[in-house]
Amino acid sequence: MSTPVFDYAPAPESRAVVDIAPSYGLFIDGSMREPLDGTSFTTLSPSTEEVLSEVAEAGPADVDAAVRAARAAYTDTWSAMPGRERGKYLFRLARLIQERARELAVLETLDNGKPIRETRDVDVPLAAAHFFYHAGWADRLAFAGLGAHPRPYGVAAQVIPWNFPLLMLAWKIAPALAAGNTVVLKPAETTPLTALAFADLCRQADLPPGVVNIVTGAGRTGRLLVEHPGVDKVAFTGSTEVGRQIARAIAGTPKKATLELGGKAANIVFDDAPIDQAIEGIVRGVFFNQGHVCCAGTRLLVQESVADEVVAALKRRLGTLRLGDPMDKNTDIGAINSATQLDRIETMSQIGEDEGATRWSAACTLPERGFWFPPTVFTNVAQTHRIAREEIFGPVLSVLTFRTPDEALAKANNTPFGLSAGVWTEKGSRILWMAQRLRAGVVWANTFNHFDPASPFGGYKESGYGREGGRHGLAAYLVPDESPGVGV
Ligand code: NDP
Repeated sequence: MSTPVFDYAPAPESRAVVDIAPSYGLFIDGSMREPLDGTSFTTLSPSTEEVLSEVAEAGPADVDAAVRAARAAYTDTWSAMPGRERGKYLFRLARLIQERARELAVLETLDNGKPIRETRDVDVPLAAAHFFYHAGWADRLAFAGLGAHPRPYGVAAQVIPWNFPLLMLAWKIAPALAAGNTVVLKPAETTPLTALAFADLCRQADLPPGVVNIVTGAGRTGRLLVEHPGVDKVAFTGSTEVGRQIARAIAGTPKKATLELGGKAANIVFDDAPIDQAIEGIVRGVFFNQGHVCCAGTRLLVQESVADEVVAALKRRLGTLRLGDPMDKNTDIGAINSATQLDRIETMSQIGEDEGATRWSAACTLPERGFWFPPTVFTNVAQTHRIAREEIFGPVLSVLTFRTPDEALAKANNTPFGLSAGVWTEKGSRILWMAQRLRAGVVWANTFNHFDPASPFGGYKESGYGREGGRHGLAAYLVPDESPGVGV
């Protein structure tokens, strides 16, 4: 991008380590099977538009078969198994993710478009960490603060998005299994391949048939799954709009739900912040994973006295990012996940300009094939602008300024969302003052986008409800026991 300080030789990761089948069926009751109504769709590599594979689309009879398999496995095997035995399966899955890490990273990069450096160093290790962490909980549920004998709900329907396909699968499946539930999971239409590879891991781990079922398909399959009467618990990550539809669909039923929805996080930089460090945090906050991150710090609130300095340093830094082949180990910015998402980012950016904000994009050559968008910064943004209010889900940052901590707080909280926020300052007292008042599920201080399976994640307001990760995340998969618990 722009004028590189020095040239990098290409450093492509080999794709020889993955073996993508020309077509895939559905993973139901421990084996791959053809869909009963026989339809399918293709999954593309967003960086080249190459067709990677033909994937089965689950219809009503398939979803029904998957839910029945999950119910039978729940009743006959999984819920009756001692926690320490369930834990062994989770440990096994964690180790298999580690053993096949390179293959999973390459597969994710091909199917999603995100840089191999991110899948290799973030997505896959964190997915393994979630299984390790929850394996440790499987025989200690009495210590979860939910009474002496908390019980699983039964069959969990899990619907995940395309931005972190394997990682979101791990966030959903690991706690559900640790708590003794069985699952039917639907990956996103554009990124089904790592979920199908995970189905193979389940077979390799000798997981009892039906404990995990994977049904591929589009939104219709997701709707069939969450509305199926045999489901006890729904876990969804995705857009606020679909989250609303799901909440409406299950209202009045006994189904429990956790919804992890959108965000419009404020990343707040005070004038005493270490600017170089803050610049790295801003870049990590919004340009990581092409901005396809629900907790991305898409609203930069910077104190007026340092705004020019911060914006100039940010533009300089963005000029050094390398956009291109996601399989290249030097790449920072990969492809946008789909033509539809690219269209949304382009539309929202055009709206930003039309409403009067000033657009700047890092100078770079976009590859001819595939879906690409350069890192973009909007200045002169008002709070009323749509780019300051709505989730764009792309590499687009809106910069606003403030003068006092009160103003920063008021602006940061002036959003229908409440998923995350960041604060950059050298004063510990100010960090605590802000963190106590920010209406966000996660507040990072002098860092951004750090995750750990032991740390609960989730939102307020239109960002959804329920937590994932940590002891709080387990609560989403357990019916509390009224009798007094142990510890905590
Ligand atoms: P969706 O919310 O549509 O997709 C999330 C998942 O839900 C996918 O597996 C999807 O299937 C499935 N789904 C869609 N409709 C239904 C339904 N009625 N019932 C049950 N499941 C359903 O997100 P999109 O992929 O369409 O992205 C749109 C916008 O959502 C993005 O621009 C972004 O702003 C936001 N988003 C937020 C995410 C977050 O983590 N907060 C993640 C992804 C998107 P399928 O993909 O096959 O259609």
